Amino acid sequence: MAHDDVITLRYQVARRAQAQWAAVPAAQRARQLARAADWMLDHADEVIATIVHENGKRPVEALGHELSASVANIRWLCEHGPAALRPQDVPLPLMPHRRAELRREPWGVVLVIAPWNFPLSIPLGHVFAALLAGNAVILKPSEITPTIGALIDDILADCGLPANLVGLVQGDGKVGQRLIAGRPDKILFTGSLATGRKVMEAAAAVPIPVCMELGGVDAMIVLPDADLDLASSAAVWGSMFNGGQVCASVERLLVHESIREAFVGRVVDKARSLEPATDLGRITAPRQRDVYDRHLADARERGLTIRCGGDYCTPDTLAPTVVEGEGIEDAAVYREETFGPMLAVRSFRRDDDAVRMHEELDGGLTASVFSRNEARAAAVASRLSAGLVSINDVAATLHALPQLPWGGVGSSGFGRSHGIEGLVALTRSKVVDTPRAGGLGFKRPWWFPYDATQREVIAAHARLVGSGSLRKRARAAADLGRSTLRLLLRHPRL
Ligand code: NDP
Repeated sequence: MAHDDVITLRYQVARRAQAQWAAVPAAQRARQLARAADWMLDHADEVIATIVHENGKRPVEALGHELSASVANIRWLCEHGPAALRPQDVPLPLMPHRRAELRREPWGVVLVIAPWNFPLSIPLGHVFAALLAGNAVILKPSEITPTIGALIDDILADCGLPANLVGLVQGDGKVGQRLIAGRPDKILFTGSLATGRKVMEAAAAVPIPVCMELGGVDAMIVLPDADLDLASSAAVWGSMFNGGQVCASVERLLVHESIREAFVGRVVDKARSLEPATDLGRITAPRQRDVYDRHLADARERGLTIRCGGDYCTPDTLAPTVVEGEGIEDAAVYREETFGPMLAVRSFRRDDDAVRMHEELDGGLTASVFSRNEARAAAVASRLSAGLVSINDVAATLHALPQLPWGGVGSSGFGRSHGIEGLVALTRSKVVDTPRAGGLGFKRPWWFPYDATQREVIAAHARLVGSGSLRKRARAAADLGRSTLRLLLRHPRL
């Protein structure tokens, strides 16, 4: 466990390294960081084996969602990031004598607190974006996946970064709290709502800005004209890949009552046909068993129907489970994040009802709508609160599409990572406002002393700014010129 003095030292050395790193042009930083993608591809087998061993996910998922997603993210960031970080001139039509430059400056030291379910791609995406933006990083992986967290050091080894620019600190939640007390300049937290609240509380005491990527009970809506084969495969994969241990997995299935039996029958058949050894992966965090057991016990007490699963098929794998029945809307399996291969089914009559049911529960990272009628699906999709809504697809982007921002609404969090929006959020904007060459060297008309002529100038200025029509604006501009001249003549000392 890291002691407080070790943590203090980590921040001190990271701050020194950051000052050096921030002075390197962004394009050069990108060239250095891009070397990591090559390292990952050269060491793909080793990376995948480490993930499979410690996390227990299937090799194909380690390859797709961790390795390949991370390589794509690094490449995209390094290719497109520097342009987004470049200082920009902002035109100031009302102050032509001034030049405003908008700069994107790094926060300083960014603290990344990461979960165990995507133990490489989540922290790695945050670390690379923070570094590209010119920050130093302190990274706390989950105590459940420390070796995978430590891989990030190996991945960065060939990038030629200043020593101590990335500080890896292993430990549990208490270490997380101490790291916050060490006063990072920004926190990127990914984890549960309960822990997120504690992080925000500790951050508020300083205060430190936070980006919260939390969990959710994401829903799939199946309209009556959906392609049932496509939608049922999507429901099973969307709720059960990575063993269902996915922040954006489908937890709630809202299906039109007219197709309910036909649809749920297909979902159950497909869920039953999954092979635990090849398709599901194991429960990574032993504490998840308590959640599954509680949700199942609650479902049974309520008399809900467990259409398949409902028990462990191996000591560390929950069988794919589908639950439905009268009153499911009050059950834990429907209202709370299970984070396992479990799906709660509810039916609706009208599209409006599906939207209402979706919105009843706060939060959402993703949502999906299935229909052969894209206009109808789009109309429903536009009314759903979520960070990403997919039509005829599920969990379509995850963290895997680096171009798109990622994040939730309500209790699923706030702030965005990934995409240009996520990169820019790792900087704070600073405006540097300077006189243009030959800029007017007189005192400004709105400075003291206040008098009637000055009021005329300001009133004409307000008309100029606020006028809708060109004619009015031209008249206001002429008034402004005349009254400014009068002001200058009256107060030659201006
Ligand atoms: P937790 O909230 O338990 O933990 C997340 C991280 O916070 C871990 O590194 C954990 O350390 C650390 N931590 C725990 N307590 C504290 C504390 N008091 N102060 C600071 N840090 C602390 O989440 P899980 O790791 O169990 O991950 C699952 C959750 O994450 C689910 O709710 C899931 O939906 C969400 N998630 C959200 C994602 C998104 O993009 N929105 C993506 C992936 C997951 P340790 O593990 O060592 O206890």
